[in-house]
Amino acid sequence: MALRNDFLDYGVWSQADLVIRVPIDGGTHVAMGRSAGGTADHQIRPLPMPRTTTPKNRSSAALPPLSSRAAALPTPLPATIPPMRLPSLLLLSLLCFGCSSSQDSTSPSVTWAIAIHGGAGTIPKTLPAERIAAYERSLEAALREGTRLLAAGTDALVVAESVVKILEDDPLFNAGRGAVYTNAGTHELDACIMDGRDLSCGAVAAVRTVRHPIELARLVMRNTRHILLAGDGAEKFADEMGVERVANSWFDTDYRLQILREVQAEEAAKSHPSTGYGTVGAVVRDARGHLAAATSTGGLTNKRFGRIGDTPLVGAGNFADDATCAVSCTGTGEVFMRHGVAREMSALVRYRGANVQDAAREIIHQRLNPDDGGLIAVGADGSLAMEFNSAGMYRGAANSTGRFEVAIWEAP
Ligand code: ASP
Repeated sequence: MALRNDFLDYGVWSQADLVIRVPIDGGTHVAMGRSAGGTADHQIRPLPMPRTTTPKNRSSAALPPLSSRAAALPTPLPATIPPMRLPSLLLLSLLCFGCSSSQDSTSPSVTWAIAIHGGAGTIPKTLPAERIAAYERSLEAALREGTRLLAAGTDALVVAESVVKILEDDPLFNAGRGAVYTNAGTHELDACIMDGRDLSCGAVAAVRTVRHPIELARLVMRNTRHILLAGDGAEKFADEMGVERVANSWFDTDYRLQILREVQAEEAAKSHPSTGYGTVGAVVRDARGHLAAATSTGGLTNKRFGRIGDTPLVGAGNFADDATCAVSCTGTGEVFMRHGVAREMSALVRYRGANVQDAAREIIHQRLNPDDGGLIAVGADGSLAMEFNSAGMYRGAANSTGRFEVAIWEAP
């Protein structure tokens, strides 16, 4: 398989404000997915959708019925699919229809699926109601934009980047605006994006003035022969690419400053490790069966300046492969680096034939320790996993059958 760090082999179609890239050769990238089950995300609260239809049946008894307020979005074939690719899509539909144990893959009409996260960690249930509502609104808005794009046939990579950019601009999350502080009182941002179609990927680390690190990561992927640029080199590349720049203080928030002070006080008393969750991520399966993952973070509160976490390291905090799954991680980066968590998810799917739900459970609950964090994943068949071993994880999930849910904690 040819690696792609540019789009020479791809045609570009413009659709309104979208740019969709489709292989010029019309070759198929349809992955043969396995059945994947999911129960961990059953505690997610369904949210209303603009239009209502009867939800599809689900196979898992552990799953609650979808709220009647949840609705299916239209699932048109993308207008840009060359006719020769239609048989492949039909084959994919039949394969998904033939799957047995997954809540998502049992439905013949699952064409696209998305999961997002806004970080895992010690999220106190005593959060003020307004703050909980604000998080839910933010997750819902990002998820809604992702579903809108996917329903319009947009490419997985474009969707993943678009959704993460929304979350980067949201001061509630530890990515872009709202990023945590280093021990020097500054912000250093990491991001990674990966295209499951051909394993092309790009990442940036320790950038200080880039409003959307995920965008710069995608430009590294597309416009260089490298995968990861860090620090001054990444900033210089940002100059050349003309991406939007902001002063480092643009990322400031009172909330994160308060957390820095608390963590510094606790660390001085040696009672607390460096934390500061709120990383954002998206995993996407588009209507053509392509997978993509994008993750962006400010890292850990009070990290040493210069520290780089798992997020920009391909295979640690972020990974996508059409043949297996797309994964975005959140938590104590050093642990996720040590275990190569995102790549390990893909390996369990590829070599053991695990579904994403089982693979996620094993890694998060058997290999990692409580409070290490969590991950979201989408399988080649569109099945979703959202697993965490911390008190909570801001997250959301949606697919073409009308699922649309956000959640923070496990259900009581
Ligand atoms: N994994 C990120 C890091 O270690 C932090 C997080 O996800 O909260 O940089």
